[in-house]
Amino acid sequence: MKIIHKADQMQYLSRQMELEGKAIGFVPTMGFLHEGHTSLIKIANEHSDVTVVSIFVNPTQFSPDEDFEDYPRDFDRDKEILRESGTDILFLPDTKQIYAEGFGTFVEVEGVSSILEGKSRPAHFRGVTTVVSILMNIVKPKYMVLGQKDAQQSAIINKMIRDLHFDTELIIGDIIREDDGLAKSSRNIYLKGMERSDSALLSRALEIGRKLILEGIRDSGTIIKKMKSVIGKGSTTDLDYIAVTEFNGFKPVDLLEEGREYYILIACRVGKTRLIDNIRIKI
Ligand code: AMP
Repeated sequence: MKIIHKADQMQYLSRQMELEGKAIGFVPTMGFLHEGHTSLIKIANEHSDVTVVSIFVNPTQFSPDEDFEDYPRDFDRDKEILRESGTDILFLPDTKQIYAEGFGTFVEVEGVSSILEGKSRPAHFRGVTTVVSILMNIVKPKYMVLGQKDAQQSAIINKMIRDLHFDTELIIGDIIREDDGLAKSSRNIYLKGMERSDSALLSRALEIGRKLILEGIRDSGTIIKKMKSVIGKGSTTDLDYIAVTEFNGFKPVDLLEEGREYYILIACRVGKTRLIDNIRIKI
């Protein structure tokens, strides 16, 4: 596995590979890798000739009160995981490689960036779409693989790709979970004692939501109320939101209709750790 730190070197290599007719598959990450990330790398390997993984903890998507400084990092462990996963190139830039002196250009997807996660984390998606644009211009991927775990983020990036005519096909990988249902996340390392068992309540609440819909409940108010009572069972949980939304655009729905697809999304603090999860459901 090649490790590249410089943006211009990565861009040069990508251009060379493009000229040789090689399809680049790209998985952008913030590191502290887990099986969620490696499942996306597997998809990239299947679709492309060369798999590039980036590790970059992006400062512009964190607000000052969030965990940028404390975000878990272990590059040696990550390199081992990447070697074993069949990654060809690790792009590991520092902040100056991505945001040069005097940087002042941002990419913003309007509307959908300001609801749900965007409402709770105001500058978050602007930071995400900006860094992903920069990384895509450096890596030049034919395929980019993102996770459904961050459903709103993946949908926003999909819209950005279409709106700005990026020549990249987006592939979305399923959510990989722990045995008790907790969605794997780099931030799960923060969860201690009771928090770890309470964190399983997010996926349990989502499963109850799914069950109610499959049993024929169609008003989202009833579904959300039942789900809230599940989250309320935890002593360390502090709910941010539960939303039942349209599949495209994340508009909240009151009444679900047959033949359509929906998301149920949840964001909840467990202790000091903010976790998100979601399921898609077609009825
Ligand atoms: P992160 O390193 O947290 O920024 O995530 C990098 C990519 O991995 C994003 O596209 C995430 O949606 C995806 N991802 C994170 N957790 C999971 C998971 N449990 N299952 C599948 N994909 C995930």
